[in-house]
Amino acid sequence: MPDRMPGQQEEVRKDWDTYFMDIAYMVSTRSRCPRRHVGALLVQGKKLLGTAYNGAPMGVSDCSEAGCMIVEEWEQREGVAGEPEMVKKQRCIRTIHAEQNLLLFTDRIDREGSTVYVTDQPCWTCANMLANSGIVEIVFHRGYPKDAAKVEHLMAQKGIVFRRLDGYAPPPQAGAAVVD
Ligand SMILES: [Zn+2]
Ligand SMILES: [Zn+2]
Repeated sequence: MPDRMPGQQEEVRKDWDTYFMDIAYMVSTRSRCPRRHVGALLVQGKKLLGTAYNGAPMGVSDCSEAGCMIVEEWEQREGVAGEPEMVKKQRCIRTIHAEQNLLLFTDRIDREGSTVYVTDQPCWTCANMLANSGIVEIVFHRGYPKDAAKVEHLMAQKGIVFRRLDGYAPPPQAGAAVVD
């Protein structure tokens, strides 16, 4: 095998965003909800302080045992002609969202000034809780258009850095369980 050219190692080595998002995706594989696998991490500097995924409370039957707990809701979205239209969506409410589990299992002192890496753009409720949790940055990969506008507005008001990892590809082992 030829020697590595100078500088080449830097290209091969993963940057920190990719490194942590890969971990978030691997954590998401622990989820037992077939509709959505979400992973979230608490990171301070380059130190991993906590991991969480969406799941039923401990000791309670999860989606793989008891099935998803589905609710139907009407959602507004932009139609073909740019006019708002209402569509019926199904959502599983059996699980505690990954971001909320992350808040349940980390300490406030660890969250102050920290970054949350999460596979999916947080929903409104999670975003609202994260905004009050002490963290200063949220990095996500997959979009969640339903709540995007109000979540972005909230983060701007709070001065929380809110950014999507563009050009990122999840590790193939993580699969992609998202049902919209
Ligand atoms: Zn479920
Ligand atoms: Zn959520």
